[in-house]
Amino acid sequence: MAAVIRLLRPSSSSSLSLAGRSFSTAVVTEAVKSQTYTQNPAPTAVDPKGRNVQWVFLGCPGVGKGTYASRLSTLLCVPHIATGDLVREELNSGSNLGKQLADIVNQGKLVSDDIIISLLSKRLEAGEGKGESGFILDGFPRTVRQAEILDEVTHIDLVVNLKLPESVLIEKCLGRRICSQCRENFNVASINVKGENGRPGISMAPLLPPPQCVSKLITRADDTEDVVKERLRVYNEKSQPVEDFYRGQGKLLEFDLPGGIQETWPKLLEVLNLDEQDEKQSVAA
Ligand code: ADP
Repeated sequence: MAAVIRLLRPSSSSSLSLAGRSFSTAVVTEAVKSQTYTQNPAPTAVDPKGRNVQWVFLGCPGVGKGTYASRLSTLLCVPHIATGDLVREELNSGSNLGKQLADIVNQGKLVSDDIIISLLSKRLEAGEGKGESGFILDGFPRTVRQAEILDEVTHIDLVVNLKLPESVLIEKCLGRRICSQCRENFNVASINVKGENGRPGISMAPLLPPPQCVSKLITRADDTEDVVKERLRVYNEKSQPVEDFYRGQGKLLEFDLPGGIQETWPKLLEVLNLDEQDEKQSVAA
């Protein structure tokens, strides 16, 4: 509780902390060249030697924040912290708080800033106990108030804004499946959108589960068409201003997904000035 209070009422000291942890600032160095699939040039790139990145992933429901944030967290050896996962853990725990949250989440609404910050603070505290440093946040901040609080307590190096057309987002949410045992995400949707008005077409092959997961697939309760549409509406109302908040700080990297993972992953690494081989070697060293 003390940690949450500290977070909500950050100290005026210059050494900032969230959940009792000190945040180290990643070494952010070189400007990335403008890429054809980004709307803006990326403001910054990470120096592969400077670990402990503190990045945020923004994007509408279904865009793939979790997939790419998770892959990057493995590559950069920082935790991937998804507030949606924290909320679902609370729902599955059967706690009183979980019961309160179920209605909110299943209607596609946002959980209150206080509750989400409390869940995040607990997660960071647990991570600190395990010696974690740096993070890739996924699904937080989702309101300008959350972004302001985060800004008061730490430095964010880069904000990646993943983008897809709305029709694709709905198909992707409806096609999402999760293995109830290993918790891996899959997608049965096969997406083929023709290009129009100068925009390129988008093709995404399904991301099918391995045989051992097939009989264990579940669908999220909030991935129904009506709830997905409500989540998109809420995103536009509450979270789009967060994009503006970071755009104003020059930290926003706009990234239009060119297709499925095979096509997107190398391009994302390129705009982030990361090299998978180098990263693996430096991690192994
Ligand atoms: P999405 O696919 O909509 O991005 P998430 O898995 O990130 O879904 O989140 C699931 C739900 O958890 C959201 O619809 C919302 O109810 C709640 N949630 C997650 N993160 C936040 C947040 N930062 N603020 C408020 N509510 C949140």
